[in-house]
Amino acid sequence: MVRLIHTCLCLITGTHFCFAQTNILTTNPLAEQILLGNYNPADYAASTIVNVPSIIAAELNTRISPDSLKSYILKMSTFKTRNTGSDTLSPVTGIGAARRWVHEQFETFSAENEDRLVVSYLQFNQTICGVGQHRNIMAVLPGANPSNNGVILIEGHLDSRCNVLCDTACVAEGIEDNATGTALVMELARVMSAYTFENTIVFMATIGEEQGLLGANAFAAYIQQKNIPLRAVLNNDIIGGIICGKTSSPPSCPGLDQVDSTSVRLFSFGAFNSKHKQLARFIKLQYQKNILPQASVPMNVRIMSPEDRTGRGGDHIPFRERNYAAMRFTSANEHGDASNNANYTDRQHTSGDVLGADTDGDGEVDSFYVDFNYLARNAIINANAAAMAARNVPTPSDFTATRVGNQLTVNITPTSTGAYRVALRTSTNDWDSIFTLIGTTTGVFPCNPTGGLFASVASFDLHGVESLFSEEKLVAPSVSTNEPNEEPTPNIQLFQNRPNPFDEATWISFWVNEVPTYRSAWVQIVDLQGRVIEKIPVVLKQGLNETMYTHGYGVRGTFAYALVVDGQVVDVRQMIFAN
Ligand SMILES: [Zn+2]
Repeated sequence: MVRLIHTCLCLITGTHFCFAQTNILTTNPLAEQILLGNYNPADYAASTIVNVPSIIAAELNTRISPDSLKSYILKMSTFKTRNTGSDTLSPVTGIGAARRWVHEQFETFSAENEDRLVVSYLQFNQTICGVGQHRNIMAVLPGANPSNNGVILIEGHLDSRCNVLCDTACVAEGIEDNATGTALVMELARVMSAYTFENTIVFMATIGEEQGLLGANAFAAYIQQKNIPLRAVLNNDIIGGIICGKTSSPPSCPGLDQVDSTSVRLFSFGAFNSKHKQLARFIKLQYQKNILPQASVPMNVRIMSPEDRTGRGGDHIPFRERNYAAMRFTSANEHGDASNNANYTDRQHTSGDVLGADTDGDGEVDSFYVDFNYLARNAIINANAAAMAARNVPTPSDFTATRVGNQLTVNITPTSTGAYRVALRTSTNDWDSIFTLIGTTTGVFPCNPTGGLFASVASFDLHGVESLFSEEKLVAPSVSTNEPNEEPTPNIQLFQNRPNPFDEATWISFWVNEVPTYRSAWVQIVDLQGRVIEKIPVVLKQGLNETMYTHGYGVRGTFAYALVVDGQVVDVRQMIFAN
């Protein structure tokens, strides 16, 4: 929606917004050469090579500091506003001062790490809030293996806003949204540039997010134009606040002033066979393997069904739209849904999105809305996943999976590692089980004889680190073992919704062997009294069909859903609304 409005405004006013992005370039040409893989890795090599994953994970867990995260956020609160259209000349206030400060910090981190970071602006021309040229800020940590070039992006938007989108005069400290994400990106640049990774890692603070994901879009377009092999995007937006507002965008948080500092949400596009969901699952797996065993405060890493909160967007989307694996980290609780309607009292997207409150009247903020330890925990989850993905372990190019009764046979196209994982998923967004194969590419595993079964594979290296997982395949229920008296497999099968039970959003899917001749079809949601709550029109296609159902907040209980074709109920199942 945001975009459509801009294009019209550009056409109508020709001033405020113009969607055309031109002259996208890196102000430091070296940065472009690194991204293209045209460099000598020895020029950026650390004098002491630290590349053992367990050592890196343990050090990330201790070196990522809540205090330095706090120091960045305190500094960002001093720029008064970081609106994309705000002052670029003032040395102390506005987006210009803020971006120069981030650039300086990146330079400082590089100097602290043997000048291993290549710092640059990504500059582009576009009219946004009346300003014609804009700059994202990036620090590039060159990988050790440019011949097998690959890039991992960790990003968050630096720009802020208050109630009115292009109001550059109002106070817009934008602490939760999104000084927290920018601080996270900066801290990872400081800490991770001590290590050596196969892939190149880019730490980027974008601008223009509030006006339509514009800085991210410029970089995504640049990456595509230059054919840079971007392997994963970790977007961090509103990632440090713990207090729920009176309002919050669905999937919502429990209610005003409720606190949650031990869970984080991972949003990503799609359901079945989504590389974005597979990335979210990889992130969670690496956290559970490397960090959770040594975490003083365990985190609940939640893989959410939708790509973003209802009606909201984030910087991961322009990358997803260009088919780069991308996901978004956001805190469990948000203070507001940014609706800014008449009786909006929450902080998000207002001048109220500040550091905290001065409860004892001494002029100092003493009760912070951001929990710096929580933010550090989210930073560690990011860093650990990026470090493991940047090992560039090869993903198997293909595999086959067949299900006969409760046995699944998998054949994997070999990679150089000779060791593999087979991940199975049924009724949630998470993998149910992961099996290991060493020294062979074929395995037989136990599985459900019926229902939706989704398989994917990865390989893993000598340190046990997995590659990014392959595409997912739906392993159709076995048809070949039909004993003469056994029920023939129906042409259309409705699967159990995923996740189930669920809060707010769930995927309803069904399998069609052959598309029948029909006029209309829909998925019908009914309560146990038989009252129809919702009808979701569907178009039947051969194979797996999926549709997302969002039921809103605060309705619990068991409901049924049915697939109806030309008024006939083809199949029906029950599902549980958890809240
Ligand atoms: Zn934001």
